[in-house]
Amino acid sequence: MYAKVIVDVPARPTNRAFDYIVPETMRDYIAVGSRVGVPFGPRTVQGFVVELHDGTDLDPEKLKPIRQTMDVTPPLTPELVKLGRWISRTYLCHEIIALQAMIPGALKAKYERHVKVADDLETEEKQPELLPLLLPEQEEILAHVRKHESVELESLLQTFSEKGALIKQLLEDGRLTEIQMVKDRMSTKKALYVFPPNDPDQLEAWQAELPARAAKQKQVLAFLQEHPEPIKLTELLTKLQITAAAVKGLVERGWLRLEETEVQRDPYASRTFKPTSPLPLTPEQQSVFERIREAAQGRTRRVFLLHGVTGSGKTEVYLQSIQSCLDQGREAIVLVPEISLTPQMVERFKGRFGNRVAVLHSRLSNGERYDEWRKIVRREVSVVIGARSAIFAPFTNIGLIIIDEEHESTYKQEESPKYHARDVAIARAGEHGASVVLGSATPSLESMYRTSVEAAASATPDRPAFELLSMPSRVEGRPLPRVNIIDMREELKNGNRSMFSRALYKAIEDRLHKKEQVVLLLNRRGYATFVMCRTCGYVADCPHCDISLTYHQSSKAIRCHYCGYAERELAVCPDCGSEHIRHFGTGTQRVEEELGKLFPGIRVIRMDVDTTTEKGSHEKWLTMFRNRQADVLLGTQMVAKGLDFPYVTLVGALAADSVLNLPDFRAAERSFQLLTQVAGRAGRHELPGEVFVQTYTPEHYSIMSASKHDYMGFMRKEMLMRKLHNYPPFHRLVLITLSHEQVQLLLRAGEMLASRLKELAQTMQVDGTELEVLGPVASPISRIKDRYRFQCMIKYRGETDISALVQKAAAVLDDIVKQQKLTVSIDVDPQVLM
Ligand code: ADP
Ligand code: ZN
Ligand code: ZN
Repeated sequence: MYAKVIVDVPARPTNRAFDYIVPETMRDYIAVGSRVGVPFGPRTVQGFVVELHDGTDLDPEKLKPIRQTMDVTPPLTPELVKLGRWISRTYLCHEIIALQAMIPGALKAKYERHVKVADDLETEEKQPELLPLLLPEQEEILAHVRKHESVELESLLQTFSEKGALIKQLLEDGRLTEIQMVKDRMSTKKALYVFPPNDPDQLEAWQAELPARAAKQKQVLAFLQEHPEPIKLTELLTKLQITAAAVKGLVERGWLRLEETEVQRDPYASRTFKPTSPLPLTPEQQSVFERIREAAQGRTRRVFLLHGVTGSGKTEVYLQSIQSCLDQGREAIVLVPEISLTPQMVERFKGRFGNRVAVLHSRLSNGERYDEWRKIVRREVSVVIGARSAIFAPFTNIGLIIIDEEHESTYKQEESPKYHARDVAIARAGEHGASVVLGSATPSLESMYRTSVEAAASATPDRPAFELLSMPSRVEGRPLPRVNIIDMREELKNGNRSMFSRALYKAIEDRLHKKEQVVLLLNRRGYATFVMCRTCGYVADCPHCDISLTYHQSSKAIRCHYCGYAERELAVCPDCGSEHIRHFGTGTQRVEEELGKLFPGIRVIRMDVDTTTEKGSHEKWLTMFRNRQADVLLGTQMVAKGLDFPYVTLVGALAADSVLNLPDFRAAERSFQLLTQVAGRAGRHELPGEVFVQTYTPEHYSIMSASKHDYMGFMRKEMLMRKLHNYPPFHRLVLITLSHEQVQLLLRAGEMLASRLKELAQTMQVDGTELEVLGPVASPISRIKDRYRFQCMIKYRGETDISALVQKAAAVLDDIVKQQKLTVSIDVDPQVLM
């Protein structure tokens, strides 16, 4: 039997499968998707089996056998292996990178140096009789290694701590050989468990049998009689306030068994979830649900775009759709943005489906993530809820994939593989004959476009047409909140220099009085957090990056967000010596200060990067706010998403234009989405809500439409703008970013790439396709970590094999990449253009 293996050597020449022999002993448990350790040159590297064959076209004599298998059950399914190839082709990354992205971090390879006793000494040039005689201590070392088959070098050196030189000699003589072993970065967590006898009745008899002085042992037996499940040793000892000696005595008698067993780290184990039952659906929910259920009964892929206003009850539709999918014995994946994956959200799913749900998000520890993932592999769960990478859940019978807040840019991974979870979901659904539901109050223009007649006409298997579903009203006829636009220029004219308009000030005062709650949004990027000299205008920049340094009040330091460079806050201006240095704290810090001045005694919870770095802090703040331990929740985007608090009746967006001014063609869309989302936090329950949007550009269509809850109006205008400028969804983009320390070299490489792209575009142009190459130009952030950055952009429409074109073009840079360490990064359908 022969295997084709993708090896963990991410480079262009190794981006293909290599052939290995499957040794007799491994045949029964090796499969497509298995993780293996294989010899690769002088090393052992991790790889994934992507094909198995009975024969081979190659000379079997030249092939090497697989050295290790890493798991009993393969971590990848054949479908995921196929998906890996699709990702590597679509997003232009090495296949190994795509495959590794699908397994939990705990399974990423760790390489260890092991030694084993050489078994082929005779065939080597070194004849044993010519070797120096073995010392008795060396015999001892060899015996030790032989007993264990192979021993990690580190640990051998520790065991024989004084005899490093002797071990070295054994290696040099070839009596020991060094091999590399692939190990998991994380092992399953194990603990000692006490196992009671299979027949608990015996416990009573044994207690009688024990002498009176063995009181502690009797106590253990009595306890087990009442709790006949295996129990963790440490837990038993603390419960009974005894030492391990008592248990040991019982184990020696052969009555109890002590065994090391796996512990599952379930982060939600200590919480209880109130079971919920399905709500009677509103007519709007019902008709949407019917469509999804009917689709899920078929076995062909259908993709739905569910446009439902905030508070229209999308989650209940998701829950009931999942139920009907489970009723058919199929599995479901739910993706939500990391930031919305709050305990509240998890509770809604655990409440309905109990422990059939696994939760995957990045705030879990590596071990916790691994354990949740293994529940999927072992078929202990049939629903997964998680952030982006949960799309790779190794299910084998998926019926439904839900992506909530589908417009969120975080569904695109910014590092390689630069995949978009939405497109991966569609690809997987194709393999499983599953349905996809993309939900949002503000669907992305890309998704909206795919519901059009034009898109349906040019649909392909990779880019199928979407069916539009909509829920235009809130549950129980609750009104959408009234949105007031406030022109901050007028405020300034009237002498109000505060960051609160008079109207918003009054509204906050009113809510404090009524004991209702307020959410305030301040976009982080809006209020730059820079350090400026008020005398000469000097701004502190990072010496290594093209970006200003950020002031961190808590540590009194100024820091670069890209490379981590930090220095103490400035006392005097390095340029003019003035002492008038202004440290602009994070915008939210300033707002918090001002709130305290304007409303003495006000209780504010501030949520931003500074206050939410600690594990669990995010959840802590939200729980406090939910329990009404604060009047105001103030924060960046993270307060805008998915939160549902009954007492919030006022929402203020303090600087609505901050997103509008970003240098990105999606700025208007992002701004509309953010305002709609944050406005949606108000008045979701019995109490009606009100929203204030403070802006310097009240006439902008993005702000006007958001204030009128007019998604369709906004979408039509924005579609026109995109069409006019050949932007997505009409054209697609590929961004190629080059970086290097020398501008000269970069420029030359950029020119080479651009002209090669243009040349190839000419030859590959097919009827009906348009293709345009822009650049090279300096990237918006032109330097990071002392490396300059240039970019080329391809805009195209129609069916072109863009991957082939880019790959071919990038080959002109191969020599510079290799010899001068030029970095080339390719982003297909980029979400961020910086
Ligand atoms: P969305 O995700 O669309 O913004 P949610 O799913 O959070 O909306 O629903 C808003 C509120 O309406 C929630 O408190 C939810 O429990 C409630 N809700 C949803 N569906 C129903 C229903 N059919 N009957 C009564 N309440 C409902
Ligand atoms: Zn100065
Ligand atoms: Zn920097």
